[in-house]
Amino acid sequence: TLSGKTAIVTGSSSGIGLGIAEGLVKAGLNVMMNGIEPADAVEADRARLEALGSKVLYTSANLMDPAGVRGLVEATVDAFGSVDVLVNNAGIQHVAPIEDFPEAKWDAIIALNLSSAFHATKAVVPGMKAKGWGRVVNIASAHGLVASPFKSAYVTAKHGILGLTKTVALETAEAGITVNAICPGYVLTPLVEKQIPDTANARGISEEEVKRDVLLAAQPTKQFVTVEQLAGTTVFLCSDDAASITGSAIPVEGGWVAH
Ligand code: NAD
Repeated sequence: TLSGKTAIVTGSSSGIGLGIAEGLVKAGLNVMMNGIEPADAVEADRARLEALGSKVLYTSANLMDPAGVRGLVEATVDAFGSVDVLVNNAGIQHVAPIEDFPEAKWDAIIALNLSSAFHATKAVVPGMKAKGWGRVVNIASAHGLVASPFKSAYVTAKHGILGLTKTVALETAEAGITVNAICPGYVLTPLVEKQIPDTANARGISEEEVKRDVLLAAQPTKQFVTVEQLAGTTVFLCSDDAASITGSAIPVEGGWVAH
């Protein structure tokens, strides 16, 4: 049973992470929320989740800094005693052709979307091994499996996190720990809404055309994936029924990678 266990969800002040935090709370877990925003900006959502019945805390931390990642794990162990579930979700995007891609954006995306998952996983695995149980869920992307133009850093980081997923899965396979990745298609969160104008500029088309002809063109269902569907997949991966699923990359992308 998941009831009473503790989860960290990185980047859970918004979008997919917030939806996953809610799903884990409903499954009975205590949750450490995290984001780059100050605590007062997240208090309404924290209180809303806590009202569902579990203990919910929030730690603002910049996960581009390895010390920020370690501090988040330490704060969670101090507050709850252990970290049983780690969801590496925090991520950012930048859309530009390779010849214009800013070096600082490359470094930031690799630091947050890839290296923060390494630092967090490294910090929680010893405690999971000691308890003989643990779940790591990495929120990758359909862009962990296939590329799209103008997203060199993001596609690279998301392919990289699938390598981390498989490697740590092998290292922890006999310790009661599973490590998996979820590969979402497009979800209408602030991350996607912000890239619509840049994609329109890069391709020389309107924002409506970006939604219809670029984003949903990739998804045969012609529907955006929902945060509730990703929360459900995460809770399933944490369940005992999923104990034999490890090192996998699960597409939740409306058929995108079947193309
Ligand atoms: P979002 O912009 O709604 O939320 C991003 C979260 O990351 C926020 O909680 C923010 O505080 C946090 N964050 C940003 N910079 C941070 C930093 N330096 N340190 C700590 N936290 C930081 O984004 P989203 O769409 O919910 O995306 C969440 C994850 O899902 C990302 O890894 C993204 O790549 C992935 N994803 C999103 C989509 C999509 O269509 N939205 C598709 C596939 C994968």
